[in-house]
Amino acid sequence: MYGIIATWRMALEGISEGAKMLDQGQTADDALETAIRAVEDFEYYKSVGYGGLPNEEMEVELDAAWMDGDTLSIGAVAAIKDYANPVSIARKLSTEPVNNMLVGAGAEKYAHKNGFERKNMLTERAKIHYYNRKKEVEELELKPYSGHDTVGMVDLDQFGHMCAATSTSGLFMKRAGRVGDSPISGSGFYVDSEVGGASATGLGEDLMKGCVSYEIVRLMKEGFTPQQACEKTVRSLDRKLKERRGKAGDLSLIAMNNKGEWGCATNIEGFSFAVATEKEEPTVYLVKFKEDGSQYFEVASKEWMDNYMRTRTAPLVRK
Ligand code: ASP
Repeated sequence: MYGIIATWRMALEGISEGAKMLDQGQTADDALETAIRAVEDFEYYKSVGYGGLPNEEMEVELDAAWMDGDTLSIGAVAAIKDYANPVSIARKLSTEPVNNMLVGAGAEKYAHKNGFERKNMLTERAKIHYYNRKKEVEELELKPYSGHDTVGMVDLDQFGHMCAATSTSGLFMKRAGRVGDSPISGSGFYVDSEVGGASATGLGEDLMKGCVSYEIVRLMKEGFTPQQACEKTVRSLDRKLKERRGKAGDLSLIAMNNKGEWGCATNIEGFSFAVATEKEEPTVYLVKFKEDGSQYFEVASKEWMDNYMRTRTAPLVRK
């Protein structure tokens, strides 16, 4: 059995490539790195890698992580600027004996010394998004942060090896130096090949309050299915945050166990995810809610998919 699951529709092309590699008997790590890099490299996905959304100083600071479910090795970079593929730097860091998580200038020095591609990650399109948002915030007193998303993935190869990884530009208009959940073990991601893995997207500040990815893996270890583990984790953190703080930010999680079974839970309308396994072609699902608050999945229609790409790539004008 093999499988790969990821947050958001933007992961579809990546997981399709990854699934092909897994089908050919390639390893979970190579398939996962290829899958995430595909998302990082596509400039129209505006919250990951090239074309990622800038911080309040109009600089693109990226967070990424890598975890190997066999060895439990972790590598992560946070607030790194001007490197094309943060996930590959995170993977490389996971092979170091110590110094596995590097931030800012230290991460950039490491990447440079290790021959990673330096690239100006701020695109003209991202600048337009920045100026437009700045104007909206000034004129309409909008909250600046919406427009974030992380690609988080978990995969399983035919040899039972699992990996997890994340990559994101974090919150749009975040403060310089702000780090979200995505590079933080147990929050943005976690994987153990003896059990399974999980990854998160949403408001990092709230996701971190529940160590959500670790919690899902822990529940799967106790015998819960990936779906049960995701739902339990999201519902209970959502409830707790509302009870204690009056509100909960966006919390969306995906998971896969070491049998290739998968699950997803969210507290927001409009969440999508992409999955492919030995038994299932690459598919995008949308999470919907019934009146009683329970969730179900719908395969994204052709119309939805077409509209998605159309809106992502539509010409952008500065307001
Ligand atoms: N969780 C990410 C962060 O807070 C953003 C996202 O996934 O939407 O940096």
